[in-house]
Amino acid sequence: MAVTTALEWLGSCSGCEIAILNIGEDLLPLITETLDIVHAPLLMDHKYFGQCGEGVTLEIPDAVIGIVTGCVNNREHLEVLQEMRTKCKVLVALGTCATHGGIPALMNGQDQQESWEGIFTTVSTDPGAGVPDVEVPPPLDRVYACDEKVRIDMQLPGCPPNPEFIAEVIVSLAEGRDPILPSKSVCDTCLAKREGKGTVDKVKRFIENVEFEPGAPIEEMRCLLEQGYMCMGPVTAAGCAKRGVPGCISARVPCRGCFGPVRKGGNQLLDMMNGLVSNGIDYKSVVDRRSILRFTGAHGRLRPVKKRVAKEKN
Ligand code: SF4
Ligand code: SF4
Ligand code: SF4
Repeated sequence: MAVTTALEWLGSCSGCEIAILNIGEDLLPLITETLDIVHAPLLMDHKYFGQCGEGVTLEIPDAVIGIVTGCVNNREHLEVLQEMRTKCKVLVALGTCATHGGIPALMNGQDQQESWEGIFTTVSTDPGAGVPDVEVPPPLDRVYACDEKVRIDMQLPGCPPNPEFIAEVIVSLAEGRDPILPSKSVCDTCLAKREGKGTVDKVKRFIENVEFEPGAPIEEMRCLLEQGYMCMGPVTAAGCAKRGVPGCISARVPCRGCFGPVRKGGNQLLDMMNGLVSNGIDYKSVVDRRSILRFTGAHGRLRPVKKRVAKEKN
């Protein structure tokens, strides 16, 4: 019998939803035979407060599987997430925004009020209007990952997540077994040539081209970290590799850490500093160390920098 499933998106760019669609042909039997989708704003018109707005409380139908994407950064996200937790037996956080705050949690590195004012008084189409305070959900004090607000049963990171593993999570839940997912680091799935030591003592900026022979296989390219680039493969969870090569490395671009830390609760910033040192690279040569948390700024990892107040000299 098909398993009732509800999907929801919170602070999402919809890339995770595109990743679900990118399951491709295998998605058809999933949505026609395996799953009975009872709620999915992406696919169907289902109102939160009754079809004609007659309801007084936010309601999502009961489901066995719940899948949420996106971070939690306003009151609406929070209420929708709490309702999903109440109505779904198993709740899956899908994508790095849902599991670690993702790109939106970069905002945690600044004062929230200043950030909102910055957005609505500069890049807004009506800069004079300021920060809206009616008809939009009020922002929370910072950007949260889903598991900071409700119990999450399963996490599948990635920005976006790998469609192959989204399908594996769905099928495993429907079959009542544990999913078979990667558990190691991006480096463990990378075939770049490693010699155990860096070739430079300072981090190179990516405006300098990496060294590789055009057309030659990845096995013949020296590891990008050993070349001196900030490749976060050692501190990032595996899962993006296709045909045996991690996504960015196949394009000869350093890993930026989008699948989050290898272990739950891991800190990519600290681990990366250790990775640089063990390759003989001076960690102080990293221009903006906090940018290493660009995908994982929730869970209190990224906080506003205290302002240095210049003392006036008389
Ligand atoms: S994890 Fe990436 S793809 Fe998914 S919603 Fe966040 S930014 Fe978009
Ligand atoms: S550091 Fe980067 S290039 Fe080197 S093995 Fe790891 S993922 Fe591959
Ligand atoms: S190589 Fe790193 S940044 Fe690129 S897709 Fe994989 S995990 Fe994400």
